[in-house]
Amino acid sequence: MKIAIIGGGAGGLFAGGMLSQAGIDTTIFDGNEKLGKKLYITGKGRCNVTNNCSKEEFLSHVVHGEKFMMSAISNFDSQSTMSFFENLGCHLKVERGNRVFPVSDKASDITKALIKNIDISFCKIKLNEKVLSVSAQQGNFVINTSKSNYTFDKVIIATGGKSYPSTGSQGDGYILAKNLGHNIVPPMPALVPIKLKDSFCHQLQGLTLKNVKLKTVINGKTKEFFGELLFANEAITGPIALSASSYIGDSKPDLSLDLKPALDHQTLEKRIMRDFQNNLNREISYIIRGLMPKSLAGVFLKICDMDEHKKVNSITTKERNKIIDYLKNFPLHFDSLYPVETGIVTAGGVDLKEVNPKTMESKKVKDLYFVGEVLDIDCLTGGFNLQAAFSTAYACAKAIIQSVKN
Ligand SMILES: Cc1cc2nc3c(=O)[nH]c(=O)nc-3n(C[C@H](O)[C@H](O)[C@H](O)COP(=O)(O)OP(=O)(O)OC[C@H]3O[C@@H](n4cnc5c(N)ncnc54)[C@H](O)[C@@H]3O)c2cc1C
Repeated sequence: MKIAIIGGGAGGLFAGGMLSQAGIDTTIFDGNEKLGKKLYITGKGRCNVTNNCSKEEFLSHVVHGEKFMMSAISNFDSQSTMSFFENLGCHLKVERGNRVFPVSDKASDITKALIKNIDISFCKIKLNEKVLSVSAQQGNFVINTSKSNYTFDKVIIATGGKSYPSTGSQGDGYILAKNLGHNIVPPMPALVPIKLKDSFCHQLQGLTLKNVKLKTVINGKTKEFFGELLFANEAITGPIALSASSYIGDSKPDLSLDLKPALDHQTLEKRIMRDFQNNLNREISYIIRGLMPKSLAGVFLKICDMDEHKKVNSITTKERNKIIDYLKNFPLHFDSLYPVETGIVTAGGVDLKEVNPKTMESKKVKDLYFVGEVLDIDCLTGGFNLQAAFSTAYACAKAIIQSVKN
């Protein structure tokens, strides 16, 4: 039994380790000069390898593919990932938000552990060898690479998504899968900055807002994200903007910011009334600056169409209500998502309806498997995407080992 793994990233290396440990003849192909190239840049070079959370919490961070992931995460969860790396001598630590990192803070230690786990007496590693095509022929597969042709009994496509193409993930897996008869859910940017039409973005560049709520209406559905937001040139980014982007796809969402999410409308109104009463002879900018950073206060008053020098005692009820309304619903105008290549992950991929969630085997082509980001699965930040790659790789390798035994 000969198995080909196309892609030596997180999922491919994990599956290669399990299969070779089971004494199965495995070959890993990667177009790069080294294995796990994307892994090196994960978690800003520290690799947030998983999230120390329950299966339910993991699933709540899956944006697309939640139902599909149920079985895989039940059989290989974050505790399994943590034990896996600890047993390989890669010690881990848990940080804020249950994010798990190597104690060394070096993503390279995660790659090293995955490579160490591969039994090289059963696994050939072919670097600088891009797979160009895969065809299913008379019960096996012919793989054509940049160097040669090979025949295998089973093939695992672990080519990743389409983001950060310099790491080798260039969307090849979608073409290979499509040519084998699979439907591909169109790849979309996920975990990317959101470009706005609002010219004030430029003015606010570099401003971080903590504890705000980004409200989105995507295809008629409201979804809110609480936390930190950062203004970049022409865009919003930071944790809550990145999370929101994953749900947007090709829709045109309505966006607004709740600058005072801790106060409901009524409480905020009372607070503003009190501020007004105590500062009747001051300029309105004085009040607004007490509610938000100075750079935003100027923009806020402009958007409210109000002269910043206007005295509080001359503000009408209508104007006051507008201020309160904009504090709770500061309007942002969506332009587009940053391109898919700039995303932390790619949404879309091999249609999950055509893959068995217990084994990762294609329902269309026997002995063909998919693991990791090439599948139509993407998660929020926090170590969930790598966990999805490991869990799907585990399910796939386990099923292959089982099938070899039978
Ligand atoms: C900047 C950045 C930071 C990230 N940080 C985190 C983080 O901290 N935590 C987290 O959970 N997730 C993180 N992610 C996401 C995570 O890295 C991916 O979801 C994960 O690597 C997907 O694993 P994979 O094995 O499916 O694909 P990849 O790791 O992308 O590996 C795919 C491999 O396939 C190879 N390949 C592709 N096509 C071919 C071909 N035709 N022939 C041969 N080889 C081919 C590529 O060279 C590559 O090595 C981050 C992503 C980015 C871009």
